[in-house]
Amino acid sequence: MADVDATRGTGPTPPGPRQTADGGHNRSHEVDALRAAETAGRPGAFDDHHPPRADLVSDCVHCGFCLTTCPTYVLWGEEMDSPRGRIHLIAQGLEGEPLTDSMVTHFDQCLGCMACVTACPSGVRYDRLIEDTRAQVERRHPRGPRDRALRAAIFALFPYPRRLRLLRGPLWAYQKSGLRSLVARTGLLERLAPTLATLDSLAPRLRSVPRPPRRVAARGTRRAVVGMLTGCVQSAFFPDVNSATVRILSAEGCEVLIPPGQGCCGALSVHNGRRAEAERFARRLIDTFEQTGMDWFVVNAAGCGSSLKEYGELLADDPAYAARAVAFAAKVRDLAELLDELGPVAERHPLPVTVAYHDACHLGHAQGIREQPRALLRGIPGLELREIADPEICCGSAGVWNVLNPEPAAELGDRKAAAVLATGASLLVTANPGCLMQVAAAIRRQNGKIALAHTAQVLDASLRNLGVAALTND
Ligand code: SF4
Ligand code: SF4
Repeated sequence: MADVDATRGTGPTPPGPRQTADGGHNRSHEVDALRAAETAGRPGAFDDHHPPRADLVSDCVHCGFCLTTCPTYVLWGEEMDSPRGRIHLIAQGLEGEPLTDSMVTHFDQCLGCMACVTACPSGVRYDRLIEDTRAQVERRHPRGPRDRALRAAIFALFPYPRRLRLLRGPLWAYQKSGLRSLVARTGLLERLAPTLATLDSLAPRLRSVPRPPRRVAARGTRRAVVGMLTGCVQSAFFPDVNSATVRILSAEGCEVLIPPGQGCCGALSVHNGRRAEAERFARRLIDTFEQTGMDWFVVNAAGCGSSLKEYGELLADDPAYAARAVAFAAKVRDLAELLDELGPVAERHPLPVTVAYHDACHLGHAQGIREQPRALLRGIPGLELREIADPEICCGSAGVWNVLNPEPAAELGDRKAAAVLATGASLLVTANPGCLMQVAAAIRRQNGKIALAHTAQVLDASLRNLGVAALTND
């Protein structure tokens, strides 16, 4: 059997439904027998614990409609770095091929942006396929020491809001002392510690905001009781987004419950194949909110929302939590989704500003929420909404993908920043902390002039009649 990379550089030519990596179609029984003999005795790519499902693989008809929406295919033009190519590799794994380093690289290079799921006319569940594949990779594929150490550091920090909050003090001092600008000018960090340099470039300017109380009453008639996820990166680096979310919900007639110690929702872990860790986080979150009497569970970070809605699948094997996870997931709403369902009651004050709205992949592609945030923004008097070219292409953030793959991530960020700046808008609005950090870094690299805000901050500024300066003066 040829190595999977034999297909590299062949461009968009699709492997046929039963095509092998050496280009053969309609394999005879003889070839099947030869392959079976070749792979006999070798450990296959996947074991029996939730392997990617063969029936989902066979849904792919190799049409290629997904290719132009896939950021890695757009960057490199390589079939094996497209959704179709990755599905082909999964099929090979299911046929008994071992998990090679090159195969794992192609899986790792997937951003998990789910643009291919939106584009696919055959309804291929690539989201399920890559999630199951990644869980197998993490359990079965030994990584090199540097990769192991980097991933260990990332997952010892990012899913832990308290640990992230401990970074605020040193980071604030680093930014305020002018050291950050000095380090940036010398380029020293990039040469000595490229991962730290990437993190440094992404770090937002910190603002000090008091932590929200455990319970905030609804203003006026109470229309709903909502539990709220404060998040990891959101609570540590964008506490002002959480404060704005609480104020909006209260103004729109929601009693908001924010129990402490909720921890991480597990999105980062599940998107990176760390399923057991994600299951632990999910159980804890369900335990924290289950007895609060909430009608809805509101989320203001796109990546978290898409994972929370899949708790039923995540905990399906756990008899103590399976039904509870399904019930919990049914209550999950993105902030814009919930506000759209409830309908507005609070008065909107004018905000005369041109806004470019960026669809976070896990809001648009993974949850199909595109119209609700736009409707929310259009409901603000004086606000003009502009569309960004190629909205389906990821900005390159993708959870921690930009930390693990800094160069292509910067390239994708630069493309997105150019498209954003071309709108001529004075404010970029999105609903995910990762996108805010990624696009802000790219805009700084291009010396672009545009303010950035979360959807919640824009609506909050309108409800409180703060004026445009509250959003555009940094
Ligand atoms: S999830 Fe995104 S990066 Fe991965 S294959 Fe699909 S379009 Fe490409
Ligand atoms: S669009 Fe769907 S069916 Fe067509 S190649 Fe992509 S994943 Fe397969």
